[in-house]
Amino acid sequence: MFDKILIANRGEIALRVVRAAREMGIASVAVHSTADTDAMHVRMADESVCIGPAPSPQSYLSIPAIISACEISGAQAIHPGYGFLSENANFVQIVEDHGLTFIGPTAEHIRIMGDKITAKDTMKTLGVPCVPGSDGGVPDLETAKRIGEEIGYPVIIKATAGGGGKGMKVAKSAADMERAFQTARAEGKSNFGNDEVYIEKYLTTPRHIEIQVFGDGKGNAVHLGERDCSLQRRHQKVFEEAPGPVITEEERARIGKVCADAVAKINYIGAGTIEFLYENGAFYFIEMNTRLQVEHPVTEAIFGVDLVREQIRVAAGLPMSFTQEDLEIKGHAIEVRINAEKLPNFSPCPGRITQYHAPGGLGVRMDSALYDGYSIPPYYDSLIGKLIVHGRDRPEALARLGRALGELIVDGVDTTVPLFHALLQEPDLLRGSYNIHWLEHWLETNLADG
Ligand code: ADP
Repeated sequence: MFDKILIANRGEIALRVVRAAREMGIASVAVHSTADTDAMHVRMADESVCIGPAPSPQSYLSIPAIISACEISGAQAIHPGYGFLSENANFVQIVEDHGLTFIGPTAEHIRIMGDKITAKDTMKTLGVPCVPGSDGGVPDLETAKRIGEEIGYPVIIKATAGGGGKGMKVAKSAADMERAFQTARAEGKSNFGNDEVYIEKYLTTPRHIEIQVFGDGKGNAVHLGERDCSLQRRHQKVFEEAPGPVITEEERARIGKVCADAVAKINYIGAGTIEFLYENGAFYFIEMNTRLQVEHPVTEAIFGVDLVREQIRVAAGLPMSFTQEDLEIKGHAIEVRINAEKLPNFSPCPGRITQYHAPGGLGVRMDSALYDGYSIPPYYDSLIGKLIVHGRDRPEALARLGRALGELIVDGVDTTVPLFHALLQEPDLLRGSYNIHWLEHWLETNLADG
């Protein structure tokens, strides 16, 4: 086992990894930019190294700075968290070339899944059901229009290198194709340096259901059920729950096995998430994330496992500490993402926290790097905390969420907390009857007048 690991991240996820390491008796090294000198992850880690100025390309994304920090501190392995360098195959290669261990999958698996066309082809070959669409990249507008006619409108044009909801455009009809095609290409080019796009049937009322998988890199893999992340704004998740309110035990076992078998076949190592759209009882693969997800705590809650601990174990060459038979769902968990954002436009709202009080009690987990007097810097993601609740069933989890939100105090900046108070009044949400478009419609009707 490692003696010391470095965490190439910041905020709540850096803290999450520090906590797992400490429980395993492993020392942790935080890295930080000059804007994060007073950040909680720096205070909580055993050591810290300043790796550059505030803009992330010069700090959290600077590979030479992170490798140097590892060498200075004597850390043997790097946990990337999510975002930043977590899905950068080049980084993984460099980490390994320096004789260090990357806590995550191999560079090759990241490369395959990071290119959405290659990912889809690979999954198809592995027997995973995919959304109908073009066979690979679509070179020009004429071809795009022909494919649009073939699969039928509406269609979605996606940048193969896209992520975070960027580089996706819907074409409702043939007349719409030129605009959608050119915009998706331009967004792919400007955000990811790659203008290749492909086309999929646009599903009109799906839910976003994702399967958590975990492999040991030696041909063994398990699944840890699904998360329903259908409540989204601009293709970004805001509320996640596990198990999914509409997924049956049979469906879970069937799609879970397909996913576990697929990653076992490629000797996948560590945590991964296979994302699907789910409509009329059918699953359609959209992408695989080769890292820990923001919403991993809902899975941890219902299975009673520590996924970060497990990531560190398999990276150190140890076997997984559970088999498929050991994994049993207990109760229901919900996570809400608390962002420093001003409603109704969700504009970023950095600033000084004048008062902070985290909720507590049975079944409540608050993953956050906030503290009284902390100044949220304007340079990074607006996620400032995740509130996770666990109950014996969904109604209990919902009641607990309302109770915990009522205890939470974050003063000094605007947050998305009022959104969740309002959503908890919605009969559709309480019934679990929503799809990926529900929240956008709700926001238009309820928050449009700002
Ligand atoms: P990203 O990598 O940017 O997160 P994804 O491919 O994971 O992109 O898609 C993100 C979201 O976009 C999905 O959760 C869903 O809401 C929507 N989406 C993606 N593909 C389709 C599709 N074929 N039909 C309808 N909605 C889609």
